[in-house]
Amino acid sequence: MLTNEMVKEAALAAGADMCGIGSMDRFEGAPKEMDPRYIFPEAKSVIGMVFRIPRGVQRGIEEGTQFYQYPSMAYGGINEIFAPAVLYQVGQMIEDNGYEAFIYRNTGARGCVSDMDGSPGNTLSPEEQIEVMNQAKRKTNHHRSVQFTRAARPGQIPPDLQFQFRLAAVACGLGEIGWSKMFLTKDFGPMQRVAFIFTDAELTADPLYDGEPLCRRCMACVRECPGNCLSKTESIRVNVGGKICEWGKLDEWKCYAFYTHGGRKFNPFVPKEVWDKNENGDLDLLEGKATANEKEILKVYRALEKYFPTWVGYNMAKCGGCIRACVSMLEKKGGCMEGKFKEPLRKGKPWVMDR
Ligand code: SF4
Ligand code: SF4
Repeated sequence: MLTNEMVKEAALAAGADMCGIGSMDRFEGAPKEMDPRYIFPEAKSVIGMVFRIPRGVQRGIEEGTQFYQYPSMAYGGINEIFAPAVLYQVGQMIEDNGYEAFIYRNTGARGCVSDMDGSPGNTLSPEEQIEVMNQAKRKTNHHRSVQFTRAARPGQIPPDLQFQFRLAAVACGLGEIGWSKMFLTKDFGPMQRVAFIFTDAELTADPLYDGEPLCRRCMACVRECPGNCLSKTESIRVNVGGKICEWGKLDEWKCYAFYTHGGRKFNPFVPKEVWDKNENGDLDLLEGKATANEKEILKVYRALEKYFPTWVGYNMAKCGGCIRACVSMLEKKGGCMEGKFKEPLRKGKPWVMDR
């Protein structure tokens, strides 16, 4: 018989930092195209695992001295290497006990709804879609948000379904969503990534997190976003298994543009002359704008592309302004992460470039 204890023990032994278990009915109310019950209809339980982001990989960005470790060691490393290895091992243990383990790493699926904003179908015209594909061939880094998939059988949803990871982590009782839309845990604040296993084993669902609120509603994440992507007043509310999750309305497309190229004042990789030339004003298209869409982001990337033969150069900012602001605030004021480090992440004012 497979028990919660066996699963959690295996997950922690294999390298996960936290493990929680949820029941599939906690996905009730999710849009069909994002409801993981359509992936594996016989699944009875979802196992969520947290993988901490070492705070040190943010140090270089915090200082403005080294930007590479966060995207490679934390974002890519956890998504592509560390977490899949753990999923694989835990999945083996589950299957050795006679149940199926549908392992789901973060993140590769591009379903029939945009993984940026959940909007249905593709927002680009056929001509623009061709342009996006051409960009991909030239290896510029435009994010392809959606695939043109159709259902394989009547009554199914089109592949490859991408569910909302952070809400799934809530469903596994691991933590809460902060105002920043980041997933917060008691031990690591916003510094983790998550991965999941769906199984037909009927495990006991952990309670949803109901401890002290993890988000202080301090709005440091709003203040320190270089693109003003996060609203201070408008929010989104979602019910996960009876728990109301609320976060500030985020302009995901604008965030995509700013977390990759950072904007005028936060990207030391784009020479000043490039910003100064700025033909047609395309580079500044998103500065100070209330919202953005995929077409506008394509324009910004096209403007940058002229100066960089590959994506390296302009796609290195990996902002993380909201994460670092949140860590810094939580370490100082409490809520979560208390006493984890002897020295705080931030001791002075965050840097900003003068141009
Ligand atoms: S990642 Fe950067 S651009 Fe996106 S919301 Fe956070 S601070 Fe803003
Ligand atoms: S910075 Fe403050 S408001 Fe934003 S998610 Fe963190 S604790 Fe919540």
